[in-house]
Amino acid sequence: MQREWSEEHELLRRSVNEFVEREITPHVLDWESAGEVPRQVFRKLGELGMLGMRLSPEYGGGGQDFWFTTVLLQELMRCGSIGVPVTIMAHAEFATMLIDRWGSPALREKYVRPAAAGRMLGALGVSEPDAGSDVASLRTRAVRDGDDYIINGSKLYITNGTIADYITTAVRTGGPGHRGISVIVVPGDSKGLKRRRIQKLGTHASDTAELFFEDCRVPADNLVGTENDGFRLVMSGFEGERLVLAVIACAHARAMFDEARKWGHQRKAFGQQLLGFQVWQHRLADLLTRIEAAEALTYRGIDLYVNGRPAQSEISMAKLFATETALDVARECAQFQGGLGYMEECLMARLHRDALALTIGAGTSEMMRGIIARANNLTAGAA
Ligand SMILES: Cc1cc2nc3c(=O)[nH]c(=O)nc-3n(C[C@H](O)[C@H](O)[C@H](O)COP(=O)(O)OP(=O)(O)OC[C@H]3O[C@@H](n4cnc5c(N)ncnc54)[C@H](O)[C@@H]3O)c2cc1C
Repeated sequence: MQREWSEEHELLRRSVNEFVEREITPHVLDWESAGEVPRQVFRKLGELGMLGMRLSPEYGGGGQDFWFTTVLLQELMRCGSIGVPVTIMAHAEFATMLIDRWGSPALREKYVRPAAAGRMLGALGVSEPDAGSDVASLRTRAVRDGDDYIINGSKLYITNGTIADYITTAVRTGGPGHRGISVIVVPGDSKGLKRRRIQKLGTHASDTAELFFEDCRVPADNLVGTENDGFRLVMSGFEGERLVLAVIACAHARAMFDEARKWGHQRKAFGQQLLGFQVWQHRLADLLTRIEAAEALTYRGIDLYVNGRPAQSEISMAKLFATETALDVARECAQFQGGLGYMEECLMARLHRDALALTIGAGTSEMMRGIIARANNLTAGAA
């Protein structure tokens, strides 16, 4: 979809594009095998100002709005491996934005500045074995002990979990429900923190972990915001996270569509190009229409968000529609490639499996529908 990008956006686009071509794309298969993006990539991204775009300038960030993140993501997505942008966003957006927005000056100095420079790597730990969509039911408990908190419990499916230097962690400090939750930054080298990498179906370049806290002692100064106000903080990050997923999904869908179109011109069957068959012309036309619609919805969500307007419903629509579209585009385009689309060495096969996580992370499609229903007077009892 076309948008009027500023000269600044275009400059950023060119420099990210060059970086991706030179430093990322040639290595993504190795990183997928290794299950993580190497440290030195973060240092380089930090030096170029690509990690701290939305972080505060007084702590080394760029103070830019989400349109810059959009450009960054669109170009990162050209590497053909969703695990790469997901790793970068879990660090720069999900884990660090919360500290930057709500943390004390000392905490921001300690974590935000090195995060923006790529000297430290972060993860966001919210989900648990028995609390995923239902964040308010999380059970990992932090108890105050002098100048520390002692944490016990576990977290599941945490991106960057085994490699992070700090985990922005949602814990229970009070009673049940959303009012008893706090956010505490847990240093990765804390005694009592154990981590286990989990193997996934896709997004192989991103590290995903289960974390165990066993009498894990963390300085009380690492509390973000005030005690028992953490649910609000976690929720405040969700709009940005969902937009990140929507932008990734749109770029992903377009990458798969472009691959399919190329293939449709090359591959012949029954004496003609596959795009000679009207059935495939129409199927790809439908996909392109949906991709354009997903981009339009996503851009509308971003526009409202950067202008500080209420956007929860629109952002949920964008996340829902873009990620479901990417999943459908993946299935259709893989089918179009026949046997090749099932082979590990085929880009489409990797894009196909990477699409499977998009409708789950940062709130499932069912959660998005729930938000849209509540925001638009679609629940029983609402007059
Ligand atoms: C690749 C990947 C990376 C992730 N990274 C992180 C991370 O960095 N940090 C983090 O904290 N979490 C992370 N997650 C976890 C993610 O946020 C959760 O998986 C997600 O919120 C869903 O929670 P769940 O898996 O426990 O599923 P559940 O909440 O158990 O849901 C299971 C199914 O039931 C449905 N369901 C649940 N409640 C309702 C309802 N009320 N109405 C209708 N349907 C419902 C869901 O939509 C889903 O289909 C990641 C997940 C993935 C897959």
